[in-house]
Amino acid sequence: MNIGVLSVQGGVIEHINHLKALDVEAIEIKKKEELDEIDGIILPGGESTTIGKIISENGIKDKLVELIKNGLPVWGTCAGMILLAKEIKNDRRRHLCVMDIEVERNAFGSQINSFIVNSKLENISNESIPLIFIRAPYISTLLSGNVEIIHKIDGKIVAARQKNMLATAFHPELSDSLEFHKYFIERMCKQ
Ligand code: GLN
Repeated sequence: MNIGVLSVQGGVIEHINHLKALDVEAIEIKKKEELDEIDGIILPGGESTTIGKIISENGIKDKLVELIKNGLPVWGTCAGMILLAKEIKNDRRRHLCVMDIEVERNAFGSQINSFIVNSKLENISNESIPLIFIRAPYISTLLSGNVEIIHKIDGKIVAARQKNMLATAFHPELSDSLEFHKYFIERMCKQ
């Protein structure tokens, strides 16, 4: 199985290392042609405006939207979640616009730009795992009944799934835990 990691900017290598630790072939996606080789794709954290602008200019965006609409498994972490969202509450830009969620950028406020919460996530990990938030967004509204909430922190939705699309506001690739990557590979990509 080949899993692509969108390699424009942000936390690319950490996702690649987690995939390698699970014996999965990880492919850095820099050009739209490379999208033909993959069985799933991870959109890493970083700066959503920058990533969105670059993939719009290099043609990755249009091709990726089509592949996701045709069922390609996709997982967006942090900025990646913002790329997937159909609505962004505090930004006029829109990116891939494929997932029925409205997100709010930098939603946890400036005093707590970054924090870690240890949580057990039903269906994903029986043990508590560290959830790392860095200038994180959260999901402010679900735009349809097709989105399943995976996890909330203080009543705020921070992980959700809609069929072939997974979005997390936090960064599992920055912790030692492989549980989220395992979930994406085994439950979403191996069909
Ligand atoms: N704050 C960033 C944005 O709005 C996301 C931060 C991250 O990916 N860690 O794009």
